[in-house]
Amino acid sequence: MRGKRVAVVGAGAAGLSAALALREGGAEPVVFEAAEKPGGKIGTVPEGGFLAEDGPTALMAGASTAHGLAAKLGLAPEIRDARARAARYVFTRGRLHAAPSLGLFSAGGWARAALEPFWPGRPGPDGSLHDYLVSRLGRQAGALAAGVMARGVYAGDPERLSAQEAFPSLGAISRDHRSLLLGALAAGRASRGKPKPRPGLWSFAGGLSALVRAMAGRLGERLRLATPVVSLAPEGAGFRVGWDGAAPGEGSFESVILALPAFAAANLCRGFAPGLAGALGAIPYAPVAVVHLGVKDSQLARPAAGFGLIDGDGTLGMLGALFPGWLFPGRAPEGCALLTAMVGGVRRPQVVDASDAGLVELARAALGRALGLAGDPVFTRVVRHARAIPQIEVGHAARVKAVEKEAARFPSLALCGAAYHGVSVDSALIDGGVTAARLLKG
Ligand SMILES: Cc1cc2nc3c(=O)[nH]c(=O)nc-3n(C[C@H](O)[C@H](O)[C@H](O)COP(=O)(O)OP(=O)(O)OC[C@H]3O[C@@H](n4cnc5c(N)ncnc54)[C@H](O)[C@@H]3O)c2cc1C
Repeated sequence: MRGKRVAVVGAGAAGLSAALALREGGAEPVVFEAAEKPGGKIGTVPEGGFLAEDGPTALMAGASTAHGLAAKLGLAPEIRDARARAARYVFTRGRLHAAPSLGLFSAGGWARAALEPFWPGRPGPDGSLHDYLVSRLGRQAGALAAGVMARGVYAGDPERLSAQEAFPSLGAISRDHRSLLLGALAAGRASRGKPKPRPGLWSFAGGLSALVRAMAGRLGERLRLATPVVSLAPEGAGFRVGWDGAAPGEGSFESVILALPAFAAANLCRGFAPGLAGALGAIPYAPVAVVHLGVKDSQLARPAAGFGLIDGDGTLGMLGALFPGWLFPGRAPEGCALLTAMVGGVRRPQVVDASDAGLVELARAALGRALGLAGDPVFTRVVRHARAIPQIEVGHAARVKAVEKEAARFPSLALCGAAYHGVSVDSALIDGGVTAARLLKG
């Protein structure tokens, strides 16, 4: 494998991670990125005194691969933990409730949820998140919990997301325990005393792009920005990669890693592998618009203190909002708050197509109801991701198996990214590294 020329298509978290692992293994990666900057969904933008994240806001507590990578790249001093005990809120029944709190459900809803450990039956978690949680917690609590989880993590539809595959910890509990609540308690007890990866959410002083910049810096000229790959075709045992301005012979590679969203990988494979393209195209995505509002603290009747809020019953017209200005230092000027609304998702895809002004007004009105936001924001920024987050819907594992089976016909072609084994930044980093290691083994 030493010196092997590998084309990595896509410089998001997965592609950058794959390329670094290839370098470490002695291969010669060339990374092609369509955009003018690396990072894919990750993008931190300083503007008007605010530091806005156009995609992911934070790494999760368990993101140990990202943490290890950050340390290796010399970023340890830049790591910033989110404020401890960041409360989470749910807007439901016409007002904001801390989660968990009594006001979330009616007395009947709580009574039914409390019966869960004694509720008969042990339904398998291979159905939808909604069906699974309603069967265990009752209609009111189950539907609310499923909606909150689906919107908060996937911008998804709880009736289509898979309980087991989209939320592996639910799958594990339901496999080993008769009761969801008792299983969760047992899991908490079992983890006591074990080393915790991180206390909570975390990022970097300069936002998540710090990690991207450090990874891209290690690749140097091996990373070609503003260079979309426009064609791909098998050539001997390897592949011919096409991009505008490629010199003759330059496009021949021994292997290719497509570190792309599934639909983008499908477009490149359609010509030589229609079966693979079809399998990739079957992985659905949710559209999301990110709407940043910078406001003065004095404009908020209720401080945006906490992690953020979820639109629990869909009555605010958005998925939810994060409070990055409170979570991390340096995200908003003194006396101001940065609120990041997430709009759209599988159930309201068309909202993402509204004008910038329309999206700002939607977010402003929703946060007016939830937090008593009054007046116009002092800063706004709108970013649309037409296909933002892969949906781990019921049958996802079978869809990924179909992709792997079709891809196996091309030993020098590999796929990685958020579409396959987890949608978080950390999962994409892991998938990139694992895919590169597999290719290095040959
Ligand atoms: C709004 C939003 C909020 C999120 N919040 C969080 C969060 O808080 N925490 C978390 O862990 N995760 C979060 N995620 C998920 C996470 O950010 C993504 O799943 C992950 O970053 C995807 O990485 P990737 O490398 O698989 O794909 P991408 O980031 O999509 O990278 C793919 C790259 O391929 C490039 N490309 C496409 N076509 C071509 C071509 N033909 N030639 C060359 N290059 C091409 C694209 O330009 C892109 O740079 C969020 C996602 C979104 C959209």
